[in-house]
Amino acid sequence: MPKPMAPLVVEGLARATDLVKLWEAADPEAALAGVAGDVGAIAVGGHVRADGAFLERFPKLQLVANFGVGYDAIDAAWAEAHGVVVTNTPGVLDEEVADTALGLVLATVRQLPAAERHLRAGKWIDGAFPLSHTLRGRTMGILGLGRIGKAVAKRAEAFGLTVIYHGRRQQQDVSYRYCPTLVGLAEACDILVVITPGGAETRNLVDAEVLKALGPTGILINVARGSVVDEDALVEALRSKTILGAGLDVFAEEPKVPPALLDLDHVVLLPHVGSASHHTRDAMGQLVVDNILCWQADRPPLTPVAETPWQGRYKAM
Ligand code: NDP
Repeated sequence: MPKPMAPLVVEGLARATDLVKLWEAADPEAALAGVAGDVGAIAVGGHVRADGAFLERFPKLQLVANFGVGYDAIDAAWAEAHGVVVTNTPGVLDEEVADTALGLVLATVRQLPAAERHLRAGKWIDGAFPLSHTLRGRTMGILGLGRIGKAVAKRAEAFGLTVIYHGRRQQQDVSYRYCPTLVGLAEACDILVVITPGGAETRNLVDAEVLKALGPTGILINVARGSVVDEDALVEALRSKTILGAGLDVFAEEPKVPPALLDLDHVVLLPHVGSASHHTRDAMGQLVVDNILCWQADRPPLTPVAETPWQGRYKAM
């Protein structure tokens, strides 16, 4: 384990495996060099960049267990090419992240954080907080109608919103209208919720053209990855009122947030807390532990990612 993870993961793995806590070493680089030849599995969170250069330091590597459903920090193509299984934590966080997304929608559209700032600053005495925007009669466009996207859609329906979506293909088992292009989705919706994976394939998918299509009454919500939205184009669209506002849980260079965003009042900013409840982080942590315990017992991993499906056995050491 290169960097500290949740106590449930550290303790669960320390009990059952020969766990190396690299971050505890006086010289982590020397400690890594000392154990790299023996390591069969690595446990990582989003804060560890597991690219090919890092992974190839472990000649006996069979498994990389990621804490999180998004594994854009791991080079899954390298893992696939080298017979290494990558696991993530899908499913157990869908409802939590969807709750966060709807929280951001409400906070942004109804300007709830700004209203609270108004009260705390003692300004209520001088006058009511200005009227906000509304969800009534609005359409939500979901970019990435996957596990979390569907949980967002379910909630949006309960709020009376019309739901439409865009992905690389139309899904036959959903009743929401499919928009074959992202610009078409942005044009047709009032609130654009981004919930695709990160990585090279989705980099800057939401660009200046998409924001222009969203338009001056449109709101952007990003709970996916900062890389999916062109951050410079977003700042410009917010400054020039090309769009009405934005609610963001993720940023291109976390934990750095562009000062230009901090200066704007019509954005709501969260420090990547989509899945961050005790309940859900425990469920994610347990899945990391269970994937590694399966590997240790030479059983199939519970949740391999699409690039590294279970092939019946782990790579020979
Ligand atoms: P899924 O794989 O279930 O869904 C991803 C969706 O994105 C699919 O519907 C897919 O549709 C769509 N998609 C993928 N690539 C593209 C593309 N190039 N263009 C358009 N659509 C695309 O993933 P989850 O719902 O489980 O998770 C989604 C992401 O949410 C994670 O990868 C992670 O980055 C982010 N996340 C953020 C969290 C936070 O704390 N803010 C917490 C958890 C996850 P199709 O295949 O039809 O294109």
